Amino acid sequence: MSLLVVGSVALDTLETPAGRADDAVGGAATYFAYAASFFTPVRMVGAVGADFPQAVLDDLAARGVDIAGVEKLAGTTLRWSGRYHQALNVRDTLHLDLGVFADFDPKIPESYRDSEYAFLANIDPALQSRVLDQLRGPRLIGCDTMNHWIQESRAVLEPLLRRVDMLIINDEEAELLTGERNVVKAAGKILDGGPRSVLIKRGEYGVIEFSPNTIFAVPAYPLEEVRDPTGAGDCFAGGVMGELARSGDMTPQGLRRAIVYGSVMGSFVVEDFGPKRLLGLTREMIEERYKLFVSLTDIPR
Ligand code: AMP
Repeated sequence: MSLLVVGSVALDTLETPAGRADDAVGGAATYFAYAASFFTPVRMVGAVGADFPQAVLDDLAARGVDIAGVEKLAGTTLRWSGRYHQALNVRDTLHLDLGVFADFDPKIPESYRDSEYAFLANIDPALQSRVLDQLRGPRLIGCDTMNHWIQESRAVLEPLLRRVDMLIINDEEAELLTGERNVVKAAGKILDGGPRSVLIKRGEYGVIEFSPNTIFAVPAYPLEEVRDPTGAGDCFAGGVMGELARSGDMTPQGLRRAIVYGSVMGSFVVEDFGPKRLLGLTREMIEERYKLFVSLTDIPR
C-alpha cells in the first residue's frame, strides 16, 4: 500500500553523552522513510540543497523509497545541531539553518496524490494543511507537530487536527496543546478535537495510545546504552504507519501490532548516531526484537 511522508530532510551535528557526529543524515522525513521502508514502499516529499549527498538519496531509493518528491534546490540543506544533556530527554538546539527548507512549499507529485496512507511530519501546520488539500481521500492520515507550532500557530493547527486520523506527539506537546498535565485528560481533549487516535510518546517510558474506547501502552525497550535519541519519534511513526500500510489492518489489534513495530524501530535507531543503526537492519532482526517486546510485556492473566 502507498505511504507518503512529507517533512524535513537535514544534515545534523549531534552531541550526546556518548559522543558526537558531524553532518549526520537527518530530518524527520528521512528517519520516517528509513524506518517505514522495512514494511512498505514509501513516497517521500522534502527539499535538499546542492550539498546533500546523492549517495544517501540513492540508498533511500534502493530501499524502496520513491524520492521523486524530494526537490533538489540551489542553496543549502537544513542544518541542525543539537546537544543532549545527561538526561537524554533534554536537548538544546545549538544551531539551526533552515537553508532551502525556509521556502519549502510541498508539492505533491501527481503520482503520489492517490497515497492511501500519509504522514505529515513536523512542519508548519499551514504547509501540512496544503499537503492534505493535494491528496485524494487517503485512508489514514498521521500527523506530528511541536511546541513551536502549538504556541505560534494554534489557529491553523486546530482546524488541521480535525482533518487527521492519528496524532503522534510527545507528552510535553500533549500538555502544551491541551493545558492538561495528566496524560489521560490530555488525550481526552485531543480526541475531542478531531483525531480518532492519539499516540503519546514518553521517551524512555514508552508510548501510550488512546482511542475513544481503548487505551494501549507499550514500554520502551530497556537498552543498556542509548547513544543518540535523535529521530526516535520519527522512526516510531515510520514503524507504526509502515506496518499499518503493509497490513491494511486498522482494527484495534492491527493498530496494537503497528505500535509495537513502531517501538521496535525507535528502540533500534537510538542505539547509534543518526540513522546508522537502521542501515544494517534486516526484517529478521526486526521480528526478533518484536518477540522481545512481546515477552517483555507478557503479563500473566
Ligand atoms: P526528532 O528527534 O524526532 O525531534 O527529529 C529531529 C530531526 O528534526 C533532526 O534530524 C533535525 O534535522 C530535524 N529538525 C530540527 N529542527 C527542525 C525544524 N525547525 N523543522 C524541521 N525539522 C527540524
